[in-house]
Amino acid sequence: MNISVIGTGYVGLVVGACLAETGNNVWCADIDHKKIDGLKKNILPIYEPGLETLVERNQSEQRLTFTTDLKEAIAPSEVVFIAVGTPPGEDGSADLRYVLDVATVIGRYMTRPTVVVTKSTVPVGSARKVVAAVAKEAKFDFSVCSNPEFLKEGAAVEDFMRPDRVVLGVDSDRARRVMMDLYAPFVRTGKPIILMDVASAEMTKYAANGMLATRISFMNELANLCEALGANVDLVRKGIGSDSRIGQSFLFAGPGYGGSCFPKDVKALVQTAIECGLPLNVLKAVEAANVRQKQVLAEKVKSALGGDLSGRRIAVWGLAFKAGTDDMREAPSLALIEALLAGRASVCAHDPAAVDHARALLGNRIDYAETNYEALKDADALVVVTDWNEYRNPDFDRVKRTLKQPVIVDGRNLYDVERMRELGVRYYSIGRPSA
Ligand code: NAD
Repeated sequence: MNISVIGTGYVGLVVGACLAETGNNVWCADIDHKKIDGLKKNILPIYEPGLETLVERNQSEQRLTFTTDLKEAIAPSEVVFIAVGTPPGEDGSADLRYVLDVATVIGRYMTRPTVVVTKSTVPVGSARKVVAAVAKEAKFDFSVCSNPEFLKEGAAVEDFMRPDRVVLGVDSDRARRVMMDLYAPFVRTGKPIILMDVASAEMTKYAANGMLATRISFMNELANLCEALGANVDLVRKGIGSDSRIGQSFLFAGPGYGGSCFPKDVKALVQTAIECGLPLNVLKAVEAANVRQKQVLAEKVKSALGGDLSGRRIAVWGLAFKAGTDDMREAPSLALIEALLAGRASVCAHDPAAVDHARALLGNRIDYAETNYEALKDADALVVVTDWNEYRNPDFDRVKRTLKQPVIVDGRNLYDVERMRELGVRYYSIGRPSA
């Protein structure tokens, strides 16, 4: 099939590369010339395990083409994916401007009956706006499909190639048939393609992210309570997670959720509900709890250092919003670093992937270390913010030797409290006893 993907960010690039990998001819288009110039030379704008190999292979086998010319991409395509950003507007609702711009351009350049697929996360009812925008200039029949994306950054290729499920909201037989064919290679292990109406598909994405964010905020609040009462949230997690009605995933307490999806999608769904006059009170509380949680690490550092941060130097391990990605959008590290700088501390940070993106946001307000141990030099405390594998079992003797004093604040509960006690580390984590 000839396919184009408009918007070559975290989602569009993964979708394009994976669809090329199953034999389709794919054009990935973006208005960002720098990004496209780099991609033509196999230089990826993002860090995502396994993606570079796919891009290289499919580009060299001429199934994958990068372009800034939307006409070149859309004209030969039977299926066009819209994968541009839907950032929050001032009131938190999703800004559809980029999606609708692209929809208009698709109408203008299509040269055959086309399935227009919304991959971007868009509020319920957006498909009608997409139809209207495409129809403005379209000279051929088209159908729409809402195909929300559930990939996780850090495991995006794996998630797309082997999804738990594919959700297709379709308005016609043609869209259903074309999309089922397109996705057949990805569900050969029996995972379902779930067909539904367009509005339900649009809602499914927000519902999934709302539910996951709810679990995180619930556990984070519970963790803070555990800490106050002398309970250990890790044990509580195991105790409840073994209940098959609850399950083990998304029960880890931490420094608050970040990334490009949960914060934005929770806000957008809350706003949609307000506009309907049916407020989602649970989700509002989820968001408020998350904003609060993002302050917890800085408060712990401050209290560990006697209530005053000024003149202190703090080592930060991990900048990305989670392990496996270089994405800094809404990362908890940003809230921590802002609070540390506001308290007149200096910061030296390490991250295996996200330093370039962090530098674009924080500039030279902090120092960046080449290695995680280098970050510890002259530091009064170490804060672990992201759960990168390489931070899980460091050489603690070296950590202790390099820090000015053995203080660790662990935002991911990576280390064993008892071991820290034995090592003589003053250790603070989330929802567990201190050492
Ligand atoms: P992104 O910001 O990484 O990429 C968006 C790309 O679209 C950018 O490269 C931008 O230059 C390009 N773009 C903007 N306007 C354009 C136009 N008119 N024509 C062509 N290209 C244009 O965003 P992302 O993280 O890939 O997210 C895209 C959408 O997918 C969002 O709605 C997001 O909510 C959703 N989503 C993201 C994830 C994720 O993990 N990142 C997961 C599921 C769904």
